[in-house]
Amino acid sequence: MEIFRGLEHVVRAQEPLAPYTALRVGGTAEYFAEPTSTDELVTLINRCREQDMPFRLLGGGSNVLVRDQGVEGLVIHLSAPQFSEIRTRGEELVVGGGAKLGHVVSTAVREGLAGLEPLVGIPGTVGGALHGNAGTAGGDIGRRTIEAQVLTRTGEIHTRRKTDLRFAYRQSSLDELAILTATFSLEQEDPAELTKRLQTLWIVKKANLPRGGFNTGCVFRNPPGANAAALLEQAGLKGTIVGDAQVSDENANYVVSSATSSSSDLLRLIERMQTQTLDRLGVELEVELEIW
Ligand SMILES: Cc1cc2nc3c(=O)[nH]c(=O)nc-3n(C[C@H](O)[C@H](O)[C@H](O)COP(=O)(O)OP(=O)(O)OC[C@H]3O[C@@H](n4cnc5c(N)ncnc54)[C@H](O)[C@@H]3O)c2cc1C
Repeated sequence: MEIFRGLEHVVRAQEPLAPYTALRVGGTAEYFAEPTSTDELVTLINRCREQDMPFRLLGGGSNVLVRDQGVEGLVIHLSAPQFSEIRTRGEELVVGGGAKLGHVVSTAVREGLAGLEPLVGIPGTVGGALHGNAGTAGGDIGRRTIEAQVLTRTGEIHTRRKTDLRFAYRQSSLDELAILTATFSLEQEDPAELTKRLQTLWIVKKANLPRGGFNTGCVFRNPPGANAAALLEQAGLKGTIVGDAQVSDENANYVVSSATSSSSDLLRLIERMQTQTLDRLGVELEVELEIW
């Protein structure tokens, strides 16, 4: 731990990453840090840079599959309260990058601020959602984002304003090391009406998710003009099992893992999904899940 001398209170060695991800599989992080302030975060990055150690940021782990052999270098987790603040400023909501997206959506609705409800049911953090412009058919997070404070890989803090921001389907210009805060522009609406709308959207979202409380991950992007889940179903993949990993019986774009699954089971299953869809339908699906 020589490299993190003085930061031992926030850094651990060989931390298992499975509990921090939705699929609950994979190996350890060589080092794992939960900084309690931006200063500590910057110091961690500087130490890594001095020693040429790789570093990366983990949000809620809902779009990450960690390999069985684990991750080299430092994995940073913005779990401290300082990174999860949520406050209103008129019709704007200013939130920390580590805040859970679900808390942000419910806070907005409680405050009578409309615009984020289409994101209901998407797991993970605000930072992860902005990194991949998470969304549903009802809209994506980028539509409401007017500002973001980011920390670059060289340890500088910058503010990105609306004119600098670019969002497309599961793509965002916010590809810096860390999104520290984001500001959303919303509209005043009756909280009771908003709550009703949120509940309806939540029912629709839930109906599309695998049931039974298993560990799941959404695997492929929708190809232009098509739906990945429908294509995978058409290719006969629903319910397919490889090792201890399975394609969901309910939505073929989700893989399901159990306590005995390994990351390599899931990787072999994902490869099978890709090749079978290509062989049977001539469609090449692009993996959305990040493989670490
Ligand atoms: C059951 C289920 C349902 C899902 N439904 C949807 C859906 O409807 N729509 C959708 O778009 N996605 C969906 N997803 C995918 C996933 O929830 C989103 O991609 C989510 O936004 C990822 O956020 P996260 O915090 O979990 O990021 P992680 O998985 O932890 O990380 C993903 C990427 O974001 C980066 N990142 C994380 N935090 C930050 C930060 N603060 N600053 C900079 N970069 C950061 C990471 O470095 C990594 O590159 C679903 C996933 C599951 C398991």
